[in-house]
Amino acid sequence: MKVCIHTYGCQMNENDTEVAKQFLTNAGFELVDDEDEADLVILNTCAVRKKSEDKVYSHIGKLKKKQKRIGVMGCVAEKEKEKLFERGVSFILGARALGRIVEAVTHGLNGSRVAIFDDTLDEIDYSKVYTRNSKHHAWITVIYGCNRFCSYCIVPYTRGREKSRPLSDVLNELKVLVENGYIEFTFLGQNVDAYGKDLNDGTSLAKLLREASKLNGVRRLWFLTSYPSDFSLEIPQVMVESEKVAKSIHLPVQHGSDKILKAMNRRYTRKDFIELVTEIRKIVPDASISSDMIVGFPGETDQDFEASVELVKEVKFERLNLAIYSPREGTVAWKYLKDDVPHHVKTKRMSYILNLQKAINRELNETYMGREVEVIVEARAKNGLYYGRDIRNKIISFEASDELIGKVVIVRIEKVTAGPLYGRILKIF
Ligand code: SF4
Repeated sequence: MKVCIHTYGCQMNENDTEVAKQFLTNAGFELVDDEDEADLVILNTCAVRKKSEDKVYSHIGKLKKKQKRIGVMGCVAEKEKEKLFERGVSFILGARALGRIVEAVTHGLNGSRVAIFDDTLDEIDYSKVYTRNSKHHAWITVIYGCNRFCSYCIVPYTRGREKSRPLSDVLNELKVLVENGYIEFTFLGQNVDAYGKDLNDGTSLAKLLREASKLNGVRRLWFLTSYPSDFSLEIPQVMVESEKVAKSIHLPVQHGSDKILKAMNRRYTRKDFIELVTEIRKIVPDASISSDMIVGFPGETDQDFEASVELVKEVKFERLNLAIYSPREGTVAWKYLKDDVPHHVKTKRMSYILNLQKAINRELNETYMGREVEVIVEARAKNGLYYGRDIRNKIISFEASDELIGKVVIVRIEKVTAGPLYGRILKIF
């Protein structure tokens, strides 16, 4: 029987899809990319914004017209639960029920409806999950859920409380992946800095990075996403100890005003954040720090916005993802805070910071001109050039060929822009 999986949302969903595909392949199902060929189509869904949830409903509608059997997993499955049966879905698999994907698909294909919401994460045997969409890079989810309850975010309600995988389990998965040719790994968690805290056995993200970097065959290690007040300064220390640990930290600040940070229920102040960045840079002076920021949060005055602008100028992020606030049903902000910043003000503020960040990107990228950097070749872009990232997460474009994907090369930077850097391969390892 043929199964097709479509993935919406974040890297953790991508990783869940990879795990699901492996289990289904191991159980004898055939995975296909074209939904028209499939006997059953699974939507691995995202509920972080209303727009992402609406996309799922419109996809379900399209599949119903094609008279396909449909399964829904991920955050929308967890949020909407059995209500999804009203849309003609065959199975619903909760965000923590991934371990029962084969059972759900079997029911779906037999025509018997099933909804599974059990926490089966402990049952997943990751030693049997040894392939990914990429041939050289693997996402590895190390902690599920989030305990932070930022007032605008739905994740703690869909993904549940934090639950770490044992260190030995993660290292075992890593070994299996190395044996299967993988060289680059990203440890994932909604709050990856909380990794190990619930295990109470001394496990931590720093310890995981240390142990993982000792493995032969591991070339580069990344981690996503950090939470400022959970971030340990042991991590930049590990970056100094091991060349395999990327000098890249994605540290979402979300806002520059203490009043707004408090309304967002972020557990740090502007001063705490700036001090943390200063401490990281004392240990790793060339650490690449990127961030996320929301503009137009309820109650954001011109003065609050100015505080965000000043923070961006002061910290000089290597990369900044900006989002315009929109209320998410089911969150505290949606329930108690009035979405009172007019849309035209939000967009004006957004484009102001975007332009500011563009100038910062350009300035930081200039320092790369003429440098020779080690890059892992990632893929071919639409423009025909290939690209990869250096240890500071800089995207670099160059001429190459398919055989070089997954290889380590030295590239000399010959052109800089506010976006990617362009270079020429000097050496192939
Ligand atoms: S840290 Fe905040 S924004 Fe991130 S997943 Fe948890 S609740 Fe959501």
